Amino acid sequence: MTDVILEKVGKTYLNGFQAIPSVDLSIEEGEFIVLVGPSGCGKSTLLRMVAGLESISSGTLRIRGEHMNNKEPAERDIAMVFQNYALYPHMTVYNNMAYGLKNRGVPKDQIEEKVTDVAQMLGLTELLQRKPGQLSGGQRQRVAMGRAMVRDPTVFLFDEPLSNLDAKLRVQMRVEIRQLQRKLGTTTLYVTHDQVEAMTLADRLVVLNKGKAEQIGTPMELYNTPATPFVAAFIGSPSMNLIDATLTDKGIELPDGLVLPTDTADAHRGAVVWGIRPEHLDVVNESEADFALRIQAVESLGAETLIHGVVGTESVVVRLSGPHLPEINSLMWLHAPKQHWHLFDANTQQRLS
Ligand code: ATP
Repeated sequence: MTDVILEKVGKTYLNGFQAIPSVDLSIEEGEFIVLVGPSGCGKSTLLRMVAGLESISSGTLRIRGEHMNNKEPAERDIAMVFQNYALYPHMTVYNNMAYGLKNRGVPKDQIEEKVTDVAQMLGLTELLQRKPGQLSGGQRQRVAMGRAMVRDPTVFLFDEPLSNLDAKLRVQMRVEIRQLQRKLGTTTLYVTHDQVEAMTLADRLVVLNKGKAEQIGTPMELYNTPATPFVAAFIGSPSMNLIDATLTDKGIELPDGLVLPTDTADAHRGAVVWGIRPEHLDVVNESEADFALRIQAVESLGAETLIHGVVGTESVVVRLSGPHLPEINSLMWLHAPKQHWHLFDANTQQRLS
């Protein structure tokens, strides 16, 4: 069953700015979809249109088949978790979680059962009588989730819920959110600008660029076969090495006269963007090398080492496992295995191979 359908959904703000031209997206029951993209790409706008906090300028939104464009947020059977948690500071944790149910006239004993259950699941039982001011950031985040969970909504909407937590807690809460969502099986739409968070949480990702869905797919689809240089650069850390080049009969001609011979009978000729991920470059002997990297900086991360340098005048990053300490300014000979190449048409920005 498809829980949420966006058909050509668009948003033009009152000042005439078109934040979302047109997005199509179908979310299956129980699916975890992450909207990801840089600041200002329209993630929150899209989420808020699904929530009913922002009007839909064009297209159609359906939840469980029902047309939702003009329904109030309370009538959409959704529950939203905000970045700032939006807890009531004067209420206890219990009352914060119970509030929405009380408003709907749910009987007191049912509320108590539900809140107790969810508090148990989130490890909040001991904290039910505290006020938000007496909680840590992670605990507040859990209360905000608990408040959404007690309502048993059709869809959870998350707007950057982890951005106020420190790095370690983010990782912990990320795992918790994923486990909880799997257990509950609630359809989820989650917004983040953090590609690692997006990759680890999502069943499918929607990469937004200037209000357009550049690609929709599983984390591995996006990693292995990014549809555009934008997606290629956005997914993966450090970013894919992308170099403007020309595809000719000789092969891929990189700037500075370097040629990577191709054996493809590809009909495409002309301006391309050639890419390879930092983890796919192999360090080899000079005789086996495709090119040399002049090393400019080395970042030792313990388990891996990032080596930054230039090939000709192009910046290139290499990611090696384990510790390495090459000298700055020395040359590192590199092989770029063909099966790891990514090639995009520079004009259309579409993937060629
Ligand atoms: P961030 O990650 O920084 O929160 P975002 O991807 O969530 O960004 P949105 O908040 O959806 O982006 O904004 C998308 C675009 O719409 C931005 O260019 C923003 O300036 C613009 N925008 C947002 N709200 C309004 C508004 N009320 N009126 C006009 N333009 C707006």
